[in-house]
Amino acid sequence: MGAVVKVVPDQDEYLEIRPGLFRSTIILTAGPLGLPIATFLIKGNPVPDQPEAHEWLMVDAGAPPHADMIVQHVKAVLKHPKDSLKYICITHAHLDHIGASIALLDAYPGCMVVSHPEEKPFLCDGMSFKCCAGDTWIFNIMKHFMKGSKIRVPEHRTLLLREGDEWEYSGLVKVVETHGHTPGSISFLHVPTRSIMIGDASKNHMFLYKEPHLSYPLPIGTCHMGNAIKSMDKIISLNDHVDTIFPAHDYSPEGISVAQLQGLRASDPR
Ligand SMILES: [Zn+2]
Repeated sequence: MGAVVKVVPDQDEYLEIRPGLFRSTIILTAGPLGLPIATFLIKGNPVPDQPEAHEWLMVDAGAPPHADMIVQHVKAVLKHPKDSLKYICITHAHLDHIGASIALLDAYPGCMVVSHPEEKPFLCDGMSFKCCAGDTWIFNIMKHFMKGSKIRVPEHRTLLLREGDEWEYSGLVKVVETHGHTPGSISFLHVPTRSIMIGDASKNHMFLYKEPHLSYPLPIGTCHMGNAIKSMDKIISLNDHVDTIFPAHDYSPEGISVAQLQGLRASDPR
């Protein structure tokens, strides 16, 4: 068997892409197509009296078929016996972003899932996105085929946050409301590295292209495109606080720049 050629350098393992910020990308294969799905780890506070051990935060939890692999990858970074996963920050409750959440909550009993209150019915109660009043014909047709998730995060393991809410890690990770893709979709800004993890607010994919291609969120799974576009403009407006944008589906090892997102809006105004 030949060695597997990695499409991205962080494929199937966490790599430190910025100081204290790690990304791992797993490619979900579906026939000839591959969808890269990234999850992120953020180094939090040192554990008292154990300066070499830390609390950790995660952003998004990947796809269900990868749940066991993701837990292994997380454990490979959280090696110290006193290391702990404190929070799983969920950009939105689509299945490919919450897949390992239950397995991780089981592996780390003190861990909580951070989400937006508007996302709770989809994350905790199995509500289907078909209840969303979409603003595109594609979504309004496709939503009839959508089912509620079997993954249900127990409510007592959630921490529901809106933009501006203070929480234990608000100095390190800020919630930015970027609704539209789903009713409660949010982004997470890692303050020290000026990096923002935006979930599906934009994608950098190779579907139909030879090179990574930045695009709007796909209308097929985007509840409200008008609000999603406003959210893209909001991310662009964070220019003074952000150097790098990390979409969850990204073939670029370096993420994308604010200027690139601005370029997309300018070249394809909607
Ligand atoms: Zn999504």
